[in-house]
Amino acid sequence: MASTGLELSTLGHRIRHRRTQAALTLDDLGALVGVAGSQLSLIENGKREPKLSLLQAIAEATGTQVSDLISGEPPNGRAALEIELERAQNSSVFRQLGIAPIRVTKGMSDATIESILGLHRELVRRESEAIATPEEARRANTELRLRMRAQNNHLPDIEQLAEKQLKAAGHVSGALTHRTVNIMAERLGFELIYVDDLPHSTRSVTDLEHGRIYLPPASIPGGHGLRSMALQAMAHRLLGHTPPTSYADFLQQRLEINYFAACCLIPETAGTAFLQQAKKDRNLAVEDFRDAFGVTHEAAGMRMTNLMTVHLGMSLHFLRVDETGAITRVYENDDLPLPMDVTGAVEGQPVCQRFSARIAFTQHNRTTEHYQYTDTPAGTYWCSTQTGSSTDGGFSVTVGVPFDDARWWRGRETSHRAQSTCPDESCCRRAPADIAERWSGKAWPSARVHTHMFSPLPRGNFPGVDDGEVYEFLDRHASQ
Ligand SMILES: [Zn+2]
Repeated sequence: MASTGLELSTLGHRIRHRRTQAALTLDDLGALVGVAGSQLSLIENGKREPKLSLLQAIAEATGTQVSDLISGEPPNGRAALEIELERAQNSSVFRQLGIAPIRVTKGMSDATIESILGLHRELVRRESEAIATPEEARRANTELRLRMRAQNNHLPDIEQLAEKQLKAAGHVSGALTHRTVNIMAERLGFELIYVDDLPHSTRSVTDLEHGRIYLPPASIPGGHGLRSMALQAMAHRLLGHTPPTSYADFLQQRLEINYFAACCLIPETAGTAFLQQAKKDRNLAVEDFRDAFGVTHEAAGMRMTNLMTVHLGMSLHFLRVDETGAITRVYENDDLPLPMDVTGAVEGQPVCQRFSARIAFTQHNRTTEHYQYTDTPAGTYWCSTQTGSSTDGGFSVTVGVPFDDARWWRGRETSHRAQSTCPDESCCRRAPADIAERWSGKAWPSARVHTHMFSPLPRGNFPGVDDGEVYEFLDRHASQ
């Protein structure tokens, strides 16, 4: 039944509409249904939820059906305006201003309400424009990273939710199949549909009305990307997400859906058992973890950060670095010294040239992992790096641990060793004195502008997404 404030407000308007149509005052109707007029007034104003028996009595007394009263539609244009105004005045954007809300009276004209609503809409528009300045985005991103670090990159609620969903869909062990992902979707009332005209600004689109999740075409059967995208789309529903109201909110949701997909692809119980056995055998390796669960090297490495501190008591770091040396994805709880800008942001910063993450690009044999010990001002770390390439160019994925924990990993016997003194500039950012002198004043490089994730997002109902494109896309497919 009606439960949220909004539904109660619509219900109230519908009752008032029926009462006035029946030419009854509050007290008249109260007498007919056996409650005080003041009680009815509270219900009509959406301040109180009526019992079903009272609703039945009201429906009877006003010559209608309960189903009519609880319909979600505003009863008329005026009520629609009043409901929208109530919603606007209840929004956090408006309440932050500390301005007293307007009480709508009978005598207030529709034009007046329209005009106030116009101001509210403009307020929301301006607010969402301001949401994602690059500074705000960086700050939100850094806060989220620190929060996740404080909980060892582990979200137990989502772990449990994923295990429950997998079990219900009949998944037992090993790699998660497309078939099982389909069953999970069906259980949620969704059909997975692969289309080649998804809006450019989206990775998937969900049609809530017809229960469809649209995904890009399955061009590489068996790839881990499609399962992951389908799982992420489902996660929005399973986790009860509503359109994000801030960039921080947007990032949090993005993290949660990624996390849910990761939990499904490598479930906590099975993944932890695998890692514990590998540790016992002193044979931990990202590539084995990757192959056992049929995921990408990046997904396997990142998943280790979710499980290894909590379940194996091991601190570690994860780095994804592009060919220019810039960090594109990062996690650490082992105090590895990372480059940082003044706002505390790590993403987009160039990692030390002596780190395994960059040395790996210079290796001749890049089909296997590169192992390396690196001495840093914070101690010695052992790292394992795999290089790969994507449409955006080459990248490397590194998982590493403090020296003492290297003994559990395959590759610990490596003779590769490097010294890093970063952030000291003389480590790797300054050329040797003779070369610097030779070229000083004789070089003029032109900078390449980085387009990282911190560009402001287009405004709209969904940050980063072009609504119009999405609505037209759904319209095109809904009739098929
Ligand atoms: Zn360095």
